[in-house]
Amino acid sequence: MKVSYVTSFADLGLAETILRALREEGYTTPTPIQAQSIPLLLQGKDLLGIAQTGTGKTAAFALPILQGFLNDRRPAEPRHVRALVMAPTRELAVQIADSFRAYGRTMGVSVACVVGGMSFGPQIKALARGVDVLVATPGRLLDHMQSGNVRLEQTSVVVLDEADHMLDLGFIIPIRKIMSKLPKQRHSLFFSATMPREIATLASEFLTNPSQVSVTPEATTAERVNQQVIMVDAGAKANVLLELVKNEAYKRTIVFTRTKRGADRVSKTLDQAGVASAAIHGNKSQNQRQAALDSFKNGRTRVLVATDIAARGIDVSNVTHVVNFELPDVPESYVHRIGRTARAGTEGAAVSLVENAERNLLRGIERLTRQAIPRVERRNNPPDRATDEIAAGQAIKRPQRNSNGGGRPQGQGQRPQGQGQRPQGQGQRPQGAQRSGEQRNGERSFAPRGEQRSGARPEQRGPRPDRRPAQGV
Ligand code: AMP
Repeated sequence: MKVSYVTSFADLGLAETILRALREEGYTTPTPIQAQSIPLLLQGKDLLGIAQTGTGKTAAFALPILQGFLNDRRPAEPRHVRALVMAPTRELAVQIADSFRAYGRTMGVSVACVVGGMSFGPQIKALARGVDVLVATPGRLLDHMQSGNVRLEQTSVVVLDEADHMLDLGFIIPIRKIMSKLPKQRHSLFFSATMPREIATLASEFLTNPSQVSVTPEATTAERVNQQVIMVDAGAKANVLLELVKNEAYKRTIVFTRTKRGADRVSKTLDQAGVASAAIHGNKSQNQRQAALDSFKNGRTRVLVATDIAARGIDVSNVTHVVNFELPDVPESYVHRIGRTARAGTEGAAVSLVENAERNLLRGIERLTRQAIPRVERRNNPPDRATDEIAAGQAIKRPQRNSNGGGRPQGQGQRPQGQGQRPQGQGQRPQGAQRSGEQRNGERSFAPRGEQRSGARPEQRGPRPDRRPAQGV
């Protein structure tokens, strides 16, 4: 995300009490989505925002909503809601509610969060008093509406966040039902990272004569993140992961796996090796997920192991590294994953452990992001130096953009730069060098079952977890 230097928050027309809260948050300059959206929203325009999480879009919609409350201080009536924000995941909803509380802390704004997987009692109680801002996932909100716990006739502002994820998760029917209960006269905001046809249709039903703002297209988010691919033998990933995260530079790391079982397995391996980690995926209860996230945020655990859907929308600042233990099946997920680091103008690094069977997935990612990701060779026990460089972060360079710049990716048959070329020294083992880092150092191997280095050829080793079909989270 590039930061816009042309405006200050004060220039956008925000009130002093909100400016103070922003100073306390440490925000000095509006991000592009904020600079573009806030003036339009303060004028009361409907908005279609094309932006993904990480661009600062929560403040882009939250600040004008809060400012609206300053102009109209009537409290919400019991069971009524003044502003409704719908988000696809529980984690994102919790984060949005926290942002409203932070930005509006001097204003006495009431904020409630109503999400699935939590008990109904406290939610019913919060709704009964009436709330200024309700952040909700669609399914649970509909449950509360159908039970008469909440009414939307007095809701004057509505935000639909991450609309494309809503659609992926099958929320379209609850969303339409909820929308039908909103007043026709209202202020509507709609955010989505991508704009396929179904989303454009939904937006046109939802918005009246909207202004449109758009920040960096998704595929170019990758520019901000220093990326690296480490080519590894099948079965050697756990060892390479341990080498990486044991390095102090890996202060706050998210490790992505394709499956829930894979996440548990990797987390266990890390714990056994003395690296505190927590796993977050759809088989965990909401409380477990929140506890994992909290301990990661406050630094008790340095490593969070996550599946793609569980990690969506998670906003943890200062994530130094993303490690793709397995590449995702869908190239777009790679962009979402690496977007967990390099947030709000900071830089970050993403390292992908890639075995031969994943090379097609890697090619798909390089086509989507229009870049050749620099590689380090670790197959066949490569030279020590490579590991040291990776661990120290030295080998991580900016990916090279293909020469066709912002246009389409180069022809599909074309190889990204460097691919297929043997790095210097590969295959030449220094005389007297032993077979692997862990043997050399006399450390034990912490690889999970099936990934233990046994000296056997890869095809003779046990079953590989990353070959299992992807499970939902
Ligand atoms: P979001 O896209 O809303 O999830 O925001 C991503 C991250 O950027 C969050 O950690 C925000 O706290 C942070 N952020 C939002 N706006 C700004 C800003 N103007 N300056 C610095 N950080 C910001």
